[in-house]
Amino acid sequence: MANQLHRSRKVKIVATLGPSSDSSTEIKSMFLAGADIFRLNLSHGDHSAVKRRHQIIRQLEKEFSRPICILADLQGPKLRCGDFHNGGVELCLGEKFTFDLNKNLGDKNRVCLPHPEIFQSAKKNHILLIDDGKVALKVTNKTSDVIECEVTSPGFVSDKKGVNCPDSILDLAPLTLKDKKDLDFVCDLGVDWIALSFVQRAKDIKEIKVLLNNRAGIISKIEKPSAVDVFDEILDQSDGIMVARGDLGVELPIEAVPPIQKRLVMKCREKGKPVIVATQMMESMIKSSIPTRAEVSDVAQAIYDGVDAVMLSAETAIGNHPEKVVSTVDKIAIEIERDALYFESLEASRTSSKQGVSNAITVAAREVAETVKVKVICCFTHGGTTASLASRERPRVPIIALTPNIMTARKLTLLWGLHCVITTSVDRFKKAVINALKEAKKFEFADGKDLIIVIAGVPFNTPGTTNILRVVSMDENFEDFY
Ligand code: PGA
Ligand code: MN
Repeated sequence: MANQLHRSRKVKIVATLGPSSDSSTEIKSMFLAGADIFRLNLSHGDHSAVKRRHQIIRQLEKEFSRPICILADLQGPKLRCGDFHNGGVELCLGEKFTFDLNKNLGDKNRVCLPHPEIFQSAKKNHILLIDDGKVALKVTNKTSDVIECEVTSPGFVSDKKGVNCPDSILDLAPLTLKDKKDLDFVCDLGVDWIALSFVQRAKDIKEIKVLLNNRAGIISKIEKPSAVDVFDEILDQSDGIMVARGDLGVELPIEAVPPIQKRLVMKCREKGKPVIVATQMMESMIKSSIPTRAEVSDVAQAIYDGVDAVMLSAETAIGNHPEKVVSTVDKIAIEIERDALYFESLEASRTSSKQGVSNAITVAAREVAETVKVKVICCFTHGGTTASLASRERPRVPIIALTPNIMTARKLTLLWGLHCVITTSVDRFKKAVINALKEAKKFEFADGKDLIIVIAGVPFNTPGTTNILRVVSMDENFEDFY
């Protein structure tokens, strides 16, 4: 079973769980089809559903003895409409439709919009956008608790769909009361990354850092124009980034999204922080069993740019083909990564290295692997820094990240090219090499007389000490060596 989970691709796949992917059979088949990270979306489902999905993932992890990464996505100050009697309504062009603060289920004429801030700032002729802008309404009249509108772009509106108010500036706190409760809840369950929605300023992240207290890494979702404006500061404060194209493409003109995506990916790669490209990547596969050419091309473009992960949202959460959509992305990734142009463009877009010994060693590992035919870079890491630097180099050979720390292993699973393995704690370099040889063989990365690279830091278990690089032959008898 071990080699089954030696994925032959560098880019990772994030699959969002939801009603379509709720059972252990479905989650397992998505995992086997290629999902490396599961996203628990706190915007949907109650705590019991989140807890059940979490348990299934951790069970799967045990069954396959492979670290699996869990990303909990906090809703943030996302504005959503309430629920409807029949799950949704079709809004036709020119029809009147009203938003109010009444908690009753919605119908053809009205629905609850449980955000008093909107009622304060909306003005006549402002546009309200529903479901990532698929439906648009123009405000025709407003009181303190009713907003009357006319439908300007028709479409179907269903329960809890997102609402954007591009014409208003809403003074919303970065973490709602719900987010704070959700944060405690998921941290008690144990998750590896927390995604923070609608980040607007670097200060927003500082606030969550205090609450989080290192219990998980922080991914800032870039989905507001203001976040794009101060991206460098946000990146400095974050452990990773999500290019959240759904809301971003609503808050900004849609054609502004591709250049922003490219620039953000470049900046993340430069800093060596993981970047996820998200939303509508395989949108048509919510219903269809094959994607459009344009979707395949979109996923491919993100991969060529060197993203750490591509994300599936509704495709796996509420779609008809959760497993098929994962295997489709898996196939696209394998094909793109086989293209000579893939590594050529990653090399051309690699930025100069950061300073310091750890950087020098990880750069050297890549350069040795380019000069000598080695099969794999085995990287000992405690907190994950060394492995993230190795991933930053985007080497052609696989990287095994070996760590005694399960939390580190799970978290690193998100990063480009890292195959994470839990290893026994080592106190001498000799033992590190012996473990590396064993894991490289077990996961079928190397065998016979193949060469591998081992990088580690001595003394062990001290963060930031990467200082050794050794090229080892798989048949070398290390027991006798030192
Ligand atoms: P969401 O975030 O799916 O939580 O809205 C992603 C996006 O906006 O693209
Ligand atoms: Mn969003």
